[in-house]
Amino acid sequence: MTASAMTDLQQDFRGTLILPADPHYDAARRVFNGMIDRRPAIIARCGNVDDVKRATRYGRDAGLLVAVRGGGHGVAGHSTCDGGLVIDLSSMKGIRIDPAGRTVRADPGLTWGEFDAATQAHGLATTGGEISSTGIAGLTLGGGLGWLMRKYGLVCDNLISADLITADGESVRATASENADLFWGVRGGGGNFGIVTSFEYRLHAVGPVLAVMILHPLARAPEVVRFWRDYAREAPDELTSTAAFVSSPDGSPVLAIALCCVGSIDAAERTVRPLRAFGSPLADMVRPMSYDRELQTMLDAGFPAGRHHYWKSSLMRELSDPAIEMVVDQFSRVTSPQTAILIEHLEGAVGRVGPEETAFDGRGAHFSLGIFSVWPHGEAPDRHIRWTREIFAAMRPFAAEGVYVNYVGGDEGDERVRAAYGRTKYDRLVALKRKYDPTNFFRLNQNIAPDPSVRPLQ
Ligand SMILES: Cc1cc2nc3c(=O)[nH]c(=O)nc-3n(C[C@H](O)[C@H](O)[C@H](O)COP(=O)(O)OP(=O)(O)OC[C@H]3O[C@@H](n4cnc5c(N)ncnc54)[C@H](O)[C@@H]3O)c2cc1C
Repeated sequence: MTASAMTDLQQDFRGTLILPADPHYDAARRVFNGMIDRRPAIIARCGNVDDVKRATRYGRDAGLLVAVRGGGHGVAGHSTCDGGLVIDLSSMKGIRIDPAGRTVRADPGLTWGEFDAATQAHGLATTGGEISSTGIAGLTLGGGLGWLMRKYGLVCDNLISADLITADGESVRATASENADLFWGVRGGGGNFGIVTSFEYRLHAVGPVLAVMILHPLARAPEVVRFWRDYAREAPDELTSTAAFVSSPDGSPVLAIALCCVGSIDAAERTVRPLRAFGSPLADMVRPMSYDRELQTMLDAGFPAGRHHYWKSSLMRELSDPAIEMVVDQFSRVTSPQTAILIEHLEGAVGRVGPEETAFDGRGAHFSLGIFSVWPHGEAPDRHIRWTREIFAAMRPFAAEGVYVNYVGGDEGDERVRAAYGRTKYDRLVALKRKYDPTNFFRLNQNIAPDPSVRPLQ
């Protein structure tokens, strides 16, 4: 990079430009997944939309590899790079709520904790990520699973509009009636088409909820998960639940049926009662709680930044008895107490959106299986990665072809990315990519190459 190009970028830049010599550089370059250790040449921490335009044009004119960073939680590590430019949106945290119209406009640097606190001040919420430090941006663009999804749909199903900066540094708005093709693509197609500088969402009245988990010994997991599977599939949309294989504080593997039931607490108590009555739980931690301050922050302590994450995942059409036996058996050999396997129940409002209505694929899936291997910084990765691959291979015969795009790891290859977007949608996504980003300027993402025969340089 020449000094004069840098001076051009600095001119009128409202945010902060962070270079390797800067004392804040090391903190600024880190992302959530401690396995990702990259050194960008420059981090442009944008203060406003014009900064995003300037940084985009600068990256394009200087021919730099460009990464776009929202909350920095993507485990694949696409929000940073070696030697290039990071367009960092994490300081852009404006939020404007219309309580009467039940809508919100939110900047791309917000985390779910910040978003939920602001909307819940008005008794409102929309589906959002379950850890408060995750960014709204990457999560929304991939689809977005959360505790409210069976009642109100995915996060992207609540999107009303998105403002983007395209690869040539121009503004474009995507709504159902304006650039409708782009609006289709940003609801599940990730950051492939531009940098979103504003998200507008629909909100819903959400008061206290009944949540959060019932713990069972792993030895009893097969019958508990079978019961949960059958019960959850018949339950009203108010109930969103997950079978979570985790470790108790003493390090022994356990099963948690984690749940959130919205609506009146009386009705929720009735809905959840059979789940609480089944078997002999080790602990029942289900109680009424606030959605933002309690439920949406309850799991934060288990997910501090800096741990190493290695993920594999699949959507599932069915959760058969042999599949359940296999997960339980594999989890009994888990290599790290921080690791979790989650079987998230979908359907409800998620499944009622037509398969072609948004770029998000997997409307027909009933469950999402996530193998989320996590271990402390400094520990050798080999045995954790081996275990993750083994269980993933063991579960393949039970899994659907698809996968939730935000759970795809960084080393899974192009075939897996295509599986995430779905074979029938991929051509449509490629056509959209050719229209909005023909040079694949935005390539650090679960990439849709404008020419699928050319693998992107990363
Ligand atoms: C602890 C943890 C909990 C999670 N919980 C959930 C959950 O409850 N539900 C769920 O669905 N997923 C969950 N996820 C997965 C999550 O959806 C993805 O990690 C998501 O990418 C995070 O978004 P981010 O903005 O924080 O990430 P980043 O790493 O900043 O971005 C991820 C991708 O999005 C792109 N991007 C970011 N911002 C923009 C933008 N404004 N415009 C264009 N592209 C952009 C980036 O370039 C990158 O490719 C979780 C992940 C973690 C690590």
